Amino acid sequence: MGKFAVLVVLVLVVFWLVRRALLAKRQGPPPAAGATTDGELVSCAHCGMHLPRAEARLAGDRVYCTDEHARLGPRQG
Ligand SMILES: [Zn+2]
Repeated sequence: MGKFAVLVVLVLVVFWLVRRALLAKRQGPPPAAGATTDGELVSCAHCGMHLPRAEARLAGDRVYCTDEHARLGPRQG
């Protein structure tokens, strides 16, 4: 009886760990615009500087390093 209870608890713990790992993988839904992830480096559409996507400013389907560059828009020429 005791061993059976331990087995049940073990199965539940493994199930919980697997579920948690699966949920952690898709933490935060990706933006509809593209198949990008949080850790990905993106380049500013204005100056070309690379920065983590989490720190980038989004404007339409482009990303910028600062609010100022987002306001200026993509670099012309
Ligand atoms: Zn920039």
